[in-house]
Amino acid sequence: MAEKWIEVSGWVNATRVVGRIAFLEVIDGSELTVYTVVVKRDENPQAWELAARAKVGSAVSVKGFVPDKQISKRGIEVRAREITLVAEPVDYLPLDPSGRTPALLETVMEHRYVALRMPRQRALFRIRALAVKAIREFFEERGFLEVHTPKICGAGAEGGATLFRIDYFGREAYLAQSPQLYKQMLMCGVSKVYEITPYFRAEPFSTSRHLNESWGVDAEMAFISGPEDVMRTLEGLVLHVFEKIRSSARAELNELGVELKMPRAPFKRLSYSEALEILKSRGFDVKWGQDLGSDEERVLGEAMREEGYDAYFIVEYPWEAKPFYIMRRGDLSEAFDLDYRGLELASGGQREHRYDKLVENIRLKGLNVDSFSFYLEAFKYGMPPHGGFGLGLDRLIMVITGAQNIREVVLFPRDRQRLVP
Ligand code: ATP
Ligand code: MG
Repeated sequence: MAEKWIEVSGWVNATRVVGRIAFLEVIDGSELTVYTVVVKRDENPQAWELAARAKVGSAVSVKGFVPDKQISKRGIEVRAREITLVAEPVDYLPLDPSGRTPALLETVMEHRYVALRMPRQRALFRIRALAVKAIREFFEERGFLEVHTPKICGAGAEGGATLFRIDYFGREAYLAQSPQLYKQMLMCGVSKVYEITPYFRAEPFSTSRHLNESWGVDAEMAFISGPEDVMRTLEGLVLHVFEKIRSSARAELNELGVELKMPRAPFKRLSYSEALEILKSRGFDVKWGQDLGSDEERVLGEAMREEGYDAYFIVEYPWEAKPFYIMRRGDLSEAFDLDYRGLELASGGQREHRYDKLVENIRLKGLNVDSFSFYLEAFKYGMPPHGGFGLGLDRLIMVITGAQNIREVVLFPRDRQRLVP
């Protein structure tokens, strides 16, 4: 193999001068790749001068050769011919970009843009981007139309307590909690839609899996014959993303120290009643009709893992535990949740598409029918049976990357404390 000419633009993550040789560790602007730039004073005094003085954190452009025989243990070795100092830091960096000294999550969130020079951070957000690409690919291959529904809304779908109120020219409006109502309305004219979108929820969360602004992957499909059609689609989506990340993000997974296993498929379908039995046998007494809390979800996750399932659906939820738009089946509903090792990743189900029943459901939940009239209108004109899901994108990235806190996988998290940066 011959030497290769290379041009690298990026940042200096570490510097070292050993006698008459200067070393710069440089990470480029997009890939994970780290370069060790080597400059010998005897060969190139001008570049050596610059390299020996370069501060950690500087932006540089380097032109040089990748030698045939690589001596450097870290990154790709480059023998510099020319170094340009593009921008120098005016202050010390808030963290060690080489990652040799780990940074606190607090510091990372405060200075994410600099933290992105750390290979670990780069890996997290490259995986996030690759996952979104895989999600689009999955839906596009299956004829789903990508849509964009409003984020300023006149009504919420998931309950009043969780709505962010805003003043809309003197009228009360809300930030969208989810595209629920709009994606359903679209089922009156298109048969498959998806949206990748922020959700805004106003609860004063203080958990490692909730944010006030999170991202969701929503899908809705018409002409279904039951919730199983929707579950199969969601299962296919999750498997597709795992497969794509395994095959296209090897270096990134490696950097994170993650060995991503394909979840056993088909995912387990566990009924709500069975879930209560399991919980009871493990000392949790959940009253029939209640939603499952995070402790219960965690214990169920352990039980499912013992059966060899990382991912599982919880089906046949009581209707009282689910929102008004879910189709009712006696005391039960056509709703499901998808959990992965005890963490809820998605909720979905078959919706009520029959106008009269839907109005009745709104009343039964104690909601005001008038405030949903814009939504109900769409159910008057030949609304087919339909269903869908909302999948938490941030949570999906958490489980793929093994992140313990949702804040790790969101560039600029919005929680109770954090409004800047
Ligand atoms: P949870 O019970 O975990 O609070 P939820 O049932 O209120 O979630 P859904 O309305 O079902 O949430 O939203 C669909 C998906 O979006 C959830 O399964 C979850 O993955 C994600 N999600 C919802 N709210 C948040 C949030 N505040 N922060 C992060 N992800 C969220
Ligand atoms: Mg849910």
